[in-house]
Amino acid sequence: MAQAIRTTCAYCGVGCGIAATPTGPRSVIIKGDEAHPANGGRLCSKGTHLGETVALTGRLLHPMIGKRRAGWDKALDLVARKFRETIERHGPDSVAFYVSGQLLTEDYYVANKLMKGFIGSANIDTNSRLCMSSAVAGHNRAFGEDVVPASYDDLEQADLIVLVGSNTAWCHPIVYQRIQAARAARGTKLVVIDPRRTETCEGADIHLPIRPGSDVALMTGLLAWCDAQGVIDPAYLADHVNAPDGFWDHVRTGHDLWTTAQSCDIDPALLKQFFELFAATPRTVTLFSQGINQSIRGTDQVNAIINVHLATGRIGKPGAAPFSITGQPNAMGGREVGGLASTLAAHMDFAPENVARVGRFWAAPQMATKPGLKAVDLFRAIDEGRIKALWIMATNPAVSLPDAGRVRDALEAIPFLVVSDIIADTDSSAHAHVRLPAAGWGEKDGTVTNSDRTISRQRPFMALPGEARPDWWIITQVARRMGWKNAFAYDRPADIWREHARLTAYQNDGQRLLNLRAQAVIGNDAYDAMDSFRWGGTPFADGRFSTPDGKARLVLTKQMDLQGPLRDWPLTLNTGRYRDQWHTMTRTGLAPKLARHREEPLVDIHPRDADALGLADRDLARVSTAQGNSLFRVSISDGQRPGEIFTPIHWTDQISSGGRTGLLPRPLVDPHSGQPGFKSTPAAVQKV
Ligand code: SF4
Repeated sequence: MAQAIRTTCAYCGVGCGIAATPTGPRSVIIKGDEAHPANGGRLCSKGTHLGETVALTGRLLHPMIGKRRAGWDKALDLVARKFRETIERHGPDSVAFYVSGQLLTEDYYVANKLMKGFIGSANIDTNSRLCMSSAVAGHNRAFGEDVVPASYDDLEQADLIVLVGSNTAWCHPIVYQRIQAARAARGTKLVVIDPRRTETCEGADIHLPIRPGSDVALMTGLLAWCDAQGVIDPAYLADHVNAPDGFWDHVRTGHDLWTTAQSCDIDPALLKQFFELFAATPRTVTLFSQGINQSIRGTDQVNAIINVHLATGRIGKPGAAPFSITGQPNAMGGREVGGLASTLAAHMDFAPENVARVGRFWAAPQMATKPGLKAVDLFRAIDEGRIKALWIMATNPAVSLPDAGRVRDALEAIPFLVVSDIIADTDSSAHAHVRLPAAGWGEKDGTVTNSDRTISRQRPFMALPGEARPDWWIITQVARRMGWKNAFAYDRPADIWREHARLTAYQNDGQRLLNLRAQAVIGNDAYDAMDSFRWGGTPFADGRFSTPDGKARLVLTKQMDLQGPLRDWPLTLNTGRYRDQWHTMTRTGLAPKLARHREEPLVDIHPRDADALGLADRDLARVSTAQGNSLFRVSISDGQRPGEIFTPIHWTDQISSGGRTGLLPRPLVDPHSGQPGFKSTPAAVQKV
């Protein structure tokens, strides 16, 4: 049998190490990599069944122009020519890239370099905007830098773990297993804050089923409680944290236990139990995920959590931190190379000195000088005819963006659309003028960064099928054809990695400098053999933050207006994932065993609402919002709060005519991060 290849899971931001042993051209035995720091050999159901997903079913194997197969040269020439002509006629901001947390760091790097340094626009955004951009904005506001101040090891050192807006048992299963192992080993307490009673709540010490969107009220109430009980750390605050004028007056007014319980619609006795536990447990890690980020007040919700940790000095110490857990395998690698329209490489923003520094390093002919359009605004600009050429890489916005029907119309109308993907037919590529076959997991070669900033290798163990090529190769081929041969003269991913490391260290004394400086001269063999590594130490252990005065910042946060039932829309729609599916099921849909967990899209509804609507379990029902409607099978569940329903995000036009959750949410975004709110859309349900 062939030797096992050490690689990283294709799916979530836990970033589990995998030992893949090929048994034939398209078959492989998958095991957990026991030496990987994220998982120590464990895998969840999705990772375990990866071997069933490597067949070529549904693959895009050749470049296509319209419905016709074309050679690479012809397709790449056409893409380069159309982008060049559009830029000449309408300017750099008339084109855009929409990329993905599925891309490897090297892919992400060259896409950013091409758009921000050579085309001269920052109109490159990523589907990670939908996932964790509120955490990025919250970190920047509090710490002066986008730093996750925790690692998975903190889970084993904490005495209390608080999960906010996260069905960790389903969405980050190995993190959940680590939490459960820590509880068994050292009695760690677990509190889950989530409007729904999910699998994550089973066995938790406390579950707080708060009113959706009341997280700022809850966290500010917790801060007020800590203040009143003397749990605030005055020495830490004085030395390391700044508070804006009026901050403490705001916290001390209207955030007593009783008022907070009312705002959150929660039993005051249960709330008091949580507050007392938190106050008594200095080693606390608060993990948060999409329930916090995917909100029109997502950034304030993130900062309300960080405020509590800063004020109680629970940061920069073992087992004490706020911890954003990301959804995708390489959302963090994208952040590191500036994968968002609002950032430059190496976590820099668009301050003039940063623009100049990156421009010098790249010898860029035309640097973008201001942030580009964020995802929802970008597709609005397409709809309004302001973006005339778009390249979508490894993602399916016609399903995943809010108000997806309007996104689909925009893609239909855009003058030139390129989609590079591993899948031949997606809801987005149905509108493409050119489709380019990309390399998939098990064929790609490069690096990814997981939620706790462990950098790992994805390694190939299968040959590229058909004419598929790695994303970095496709992007650099287009760049060269647009006239920038020397700047994109890479032969292998290691060339790009070294340049990324050099740029990270270039005239920039940020914390990541020391670790990545060594990577700047790494040889090809050493890159191939690279073990997973994490940039050093516990962030903020010295109490210094990346602000001009070295102090962290408490942030005045605003509670979202908590709307009651509306006449036409008496329910509130929440959306999310199923345990055994991933995004639009293009990969997980190939593993029959994974389909057994949930065979069809369900709308979860509380028994009281089902009664009022005359719905029985397994009925078909139409879920409607102001944006659109779709059919779902009814699942009556007392895990739902009355008045609230839940639908899954995975189903697409390619799979079924129903279950299209993407058609339903409003395209409203958080004002700081641009992240859309997927968790509380006014909705109605009707029996069909
Ligand atoms: Fe893959 Fe995430 Fe499961 Fe780990 S937890 S095996 S990274 S899907």
